[in-house]
Amino acid sequence: MSDIKYEQFGERQNWVNGKYERSNSDRNISVLSPYFDQEIATVPDSNYEDLDHAVKVASSAFLEWSRLNIRDRSEIMFQFKRIIEANLNELANIIALDNGKTLDDAKASIMRGKEVVEYATSLPNVLKGDSSEVSNGITCTMTHEPLGVVAGITPFNFPAMVPLWMIPLAITTGNCFILKPSEQTPLSALKIAEYLKEAGLPDGVFNVLNGSKEAVEGICDHPSIEAVAFVGSSNVANIVYSRSTSLGKRALCLGGAKNHMIVVPDADLDSTAKGLLASSMGSAGQRCMAASVAVGVSDVDHIIDQLVNEANSYVLGKDMGTIVSKSALERISEYIDEAEKMGAKVLVDGRSPTPPKGYEEGYWLGVTILDHIQSDWPCAKEEIFGPVLSIIRTNTLEDAMKIENNNPYGNATAVFTTSGEVARTISETASSGMVGINIGVPVPREPYSFGGWNESKYGHGDITGKSGVEFWTNLKKVTARWPESTEPWKKYF
Ligand code: NAD
Repeated sequence: MSDIKYEQFGERQNWVNGKYERSNSDRNISVLSPYFDQEIATVPDSNYEDLDHAVKVASSAFLEWSRLNIRDRSEIMFQFKRIIEANLNELANIIALDNGKTLDDAKASIMRGKEVVEYATSLPNVLKGDSSEVSNGITCTMTHEPLGVVAGITPFNFPAMVPLWMIPLAITTGNCFILKPSEQTPLSALKIAEYLKEAGLPDGVFNVLNGSKEAVEGICDHPSIEAVAFVGSSNVANIVYSRSTSLGKRALCLGGAKNHMIVVPDADLDSTAKGLLASSMGSAGQRCMAASVAVGVSDVDHIIDQLVNEANSYVLGKDMGTIVSKSALERISEYIDEAEKMGAKVLVDGRSPTPPKGYEEGYWLGVTILDHIQSDWPCAKEEIFGPVLSIIRTNTLEDAMKIENNNPYGNATAVFTTSGEVARTISETASSGMVGINIGVPVPREPYSFGGWNESKYGHGDITGKSGVEFWTNLKKVTARWPESTEPWKKYF
């Protein structure tokens, strides 16, 4: 904890054409550190002119970049991976400073993002193309071709990992990329830009446009942007998806979540209690894979007791970082107050936290566990996005799955059990894209792709793995008729 180094980044700009470039906008955004409640940087709130300039730069870089063979493009990913590894501490400190993660959480998130970089190094094999003789003397060859200039819009909660879901696949497949990072946590995206340049990426292939609503709307509207990937809340995901696709763009927009963990009495006591806590409290509950509802089937009191024991040993600053902003802290606390008023039993109360020494000004909230929640209460239905676990009790597995199935989101569902039959039933009936069996955060590892269902995603396909590659490319099919051999070739046969 004490290892987090305070840093001032001053006035940061956009990254365009391989260097920092001043924005045309006269608006700036203040970047606060949730550990210190202090401004550590400003970034421009870019306007349409800034975006248009970045798009022109990216368009100019496209021809040469897309014609470079895929081996050379992926070679840059090998270098990029090496640079990320060498600078793990530097990048983790930046993430911790503007997002509030612990250094361990920040490093883990970088390692997860790096898996996509590693997958991108394998694209010469993945994209080797298909070719066969489809009729006598006629061959068909199918290749993945880049789209052109594409864009990504990312949330505050994984400031390096989520951009890394997009950048490696988009650019290694030959596109030029514009990233609009969260205005709350923009600093690691700029560092990634520096690393990519060091890795040998040609100028203009990757650009960072800082900003907020105007920049996002510009990305949706700009006629020369071919595809938009978005990760953030469902409301905005829906807006970005509708606006981009109505103008003919390809879009994949990942939204919010309300993930459920089904707990049955035969579950392993220790690993289940740890799993429930890690899933709901990791990244202080600020992640789309956090399971914030535990549905206890029948008598699971022994597991809840163990969960509370584990929770009481959590240390702020070591096991859990801060909330991203003061307003988020207030919003989350209101959910807890409201649930208590409605009759929740507060098993663990994080509302009077003990901040770590030296970080007293931070936006802290401790582990909070609420029991005997009704499935129609706001804390059970809405995405709280904080370290709050709501426990609902049911008598049967059917009732538990009704609750899970009725929630409008669909990112992840987990089940804790030692029964193969229960595990299979839950994995077959869960209404979500990612299912965990005795795993509370079932993030698929590359090359398996990441993506939810229902209101957790607008668009088709997933953001990583082969599905991500499909998103950033078009298929080209070349059918060729080869003429019969004629003189003078015949004499050689
Ligand atoms: P957010 O939706 O507020 O912001 C995401 C991006 O949209 C940011 O870049 C922001 O500048 C932009 N934006 C915000 N409001 C906008 C508006 N009105 N018009 C245009 N652009 C706008 O999300 P957040 O608070 O940064 O992140 C948390 C959310 O992201 C949670 O809902 C979480 O579940 C979700 N998330 C989902 C996934 C996933 O894989 N499904 C992953 C990470 C986070």
